[in-house]
Amino acid sequence: MSPTETPRTDGFTRVLQNEAREAIRQWREQHSDDNYWEEPLLAVARAEDPLFPRLKEVASPEHSMPRDILPGAGSVVVFFLPFQKRVGRENAEATPFAARSWAEAYVTTNRLIESVNIRLKACLEQAGHQASITPATHNFDTQRLVSGWSHKHVAYIAGLGTFGINHLLITRAGCCGRLGSLVTSMPLPPTPRPHEEWCLTKAGRKCLTCVARCSYGALHENRFDRHACYEQCLRNDAHFSDLPLVDVCGKCSCGMPCSHEIPAPIRRNAE
Ligand code: SF4
Ligand code: SF4
Repeated sequence: MSPTETPRTDGFTRVLQNEAREAIRQWREQHSDDNYWEEPLLAVARAEDPLFPRLKEVASPEHSMPRDILPGAGSVVVFFLPFQKRVGRENAEATPFAARSWAEAYVTTNRLIESVNIRLKACLEQAGHQASITPATHNFDTQRLVSGWSHKHVAYIAGLGTFGINHLLITRAGCCGRLGSLVTSMPLPPTPRPHEEWCLTKAGRKCLTCVARCSYGALHENRFDRHACYEQCLRNDAHFSDLPLVDVCGKCSCGMPCSHEIPAPIRRNAE
């Protein structure tokens, strides 16, 4: 380490992980009907990770850099709130629309993500650092459907998982859940990225269950039509017109071998 380099704050990632857990525990205490989640996962990327500039090519030319979110950014903290198997199962079984519980879990989880972010921000500030929260969702260009801050791409950089054919991030707790993130000036140690693919097809095994499940013309083995996908999401929103905006579908993340875990044949290698 050079004399000018700030020492990394080892151990603080665990503190943040505990804060995320505590935010969920408190939420459940205050909203006893909301019981959608498993234990959260949390990971960290260095703000200067060379993969961030590449997001302008792979995600969107307008994708923000950590220092656009917070001048003086040191790290990006990303968390994943996995849905319980029950939530995934109900959405997999519902037809032709998403399950009502899926739509409700989406609305509630957006509020929970904000709550987790506020708690993590306060914790970082108490430790003498700055933090800036990114919105849970609806921070995308509604014409091109690309995001100015893609949680799943940032989560990949932070080592939370690898991309599936379904264009979602497969974490150790699967892809059925929601991501949130914030940027901090604290220089935390980065989480190592997985060395292998956690999607069966990408790992050279047979699967494509997600492609077979998408009956809306959006998901193909080598192509994703984000407009066809969003049209289905808007159909679900219209169907649940009594709820706030629920532009969701999620059929390709429910009832899959990667929904709630790394698929078994790959998990054995990843352990
Ligand atoms: S369902 Fe199969 S092919 Fe699709 S993302 Fe999951 S593991 Fe990969
Ligand atoms: S979210 Fe729905 S419409 Fe979009 S790719 Fe998955 S299954 Fe298809």
